Amino acid sequence: MLQACVTFREAFSVVGSAMPDFFGGLSGTVHLTSASRNLVEEMAHWGTIRSSVGQFGPEDCWALRRGQEHVAGPGMLTPRCNHITENGGRGYVCMPLAAQGETLGILHLCEPNAVDKPEWLAERQQILRGVVDTLALALANLRLRETLRQQSIRDPNTGLYNRRYLEETSSRELRRLERAEQPLTLIMLDVDHFKQFNDTFGHEAGDLVLKQVAATLVDHVRESDVVSRYGGEEFALMMPGTSLADGADRAEALRKAIKQLHVTHRDRTLGTITASFGVAAFPELGASWAEIVNAADRALYQAKAEGRDRVIAGAGLARVEQQKPKLTKSMA
Ligand code: GH3
Ligand code: MG
Ligand code: MG
Repeated sequence: MLQACVTFREAFSVVGSAMPDFFGGLSGTVHLTSASRNLVEEMAHWGTIRSSVGQFGPEDCWALRRGQEHVAGPGMLTPRCNHITENGGRGYVCMPLAAQGETLGILHLCEPNAVDKPEWLAERQQILRGVVDTLALALANLRLRETLRQQSIRDPNTGLYNRRYLEETSSRELRRLERAEQPLTLIMLDVDHFKQFNDTFGHEAGDLVLKQVAATLVDHVRESDVVSRYGGEEFALMMPGTSLADGADRAEALRKAIKQLHVTHRDRTLGTITASFGVAAFPELGASWAEIVNAADRALYQAKAEGRDRVIAGAGLARVEQQKPKLTKSMA
């Protein structure tokens, strides 16, 4: 079942329900080390007692410190880990979950009455090893899968979502908002005279500018918004639930924020950065994603034509209609 899981959540629900079958009478947890490696967090728990705290640092567990199984209990000289909640008659084991050269966390098992059952661990040693190996491998595979997924939907320079992700999300969001009778705004922006910028300061400085613009965008959006690098020096912001008028206001705020950026590269102050914005919204300016992108693109083109460093929201519908046949012909 573990090998058929595609998310951590699924895997931990399998763990929570299967562990009591393997280790009847014992309580336990699976704790995972966070991506930043400074926190170990409980992901699954089973049994009647809680013998470990939910969150702790990696240094609080001897198994994680030494990369080895750690056993402690009544009559034993080994120290107890700091994440263990109670002493007394309990005995416990922490097993590192290691696979593919990485330690992912621990499996922790506790026998509430180890005084009366000194053999509690010995008789389960074999099954414990089998469970730990299988679980570690399954978790390592899930982590790899998640890393690959992140790499396929994110732009490495800015950390923003890429165009593919935006497009994947957009159709789902549009259907949802249509049912909820809610608007959706799309802001497209393109850095002005960026080629000149690259030519003057170099490609590396250009990359830095893109990073800073991306960070400004992320700073200004809500959690439900999707900020993406649409291509080159062009970005797209999808704002579910935001109307055209509100979207235009937010684009204006972004325009000002980008203009105020002070970017320095190798002790050199890079000149003022400006961007041009096109804003379109569902349903006013299009019923499909393609129509909304088209409308935002046209508005952006108009912002460039009118002198750059400005926001154009919903470029005249009539003009969009007139230009449509011409566009299809030239594309054909
Ligand atoms: P406009 O105001 O009309 O948008 O002018 P522009 O110079 O910004 O537009 P143009 O499309 O002529 O040039 C875009 C430049 O962006 C050319 C390309 O080298 C640069 N560019 C695209 N992607 C990247 C990138 O990832 N890093 C850097 N440094 N430059 C990039
Ligand atoms: Mg540009
Ligand atoms: Mg461009």
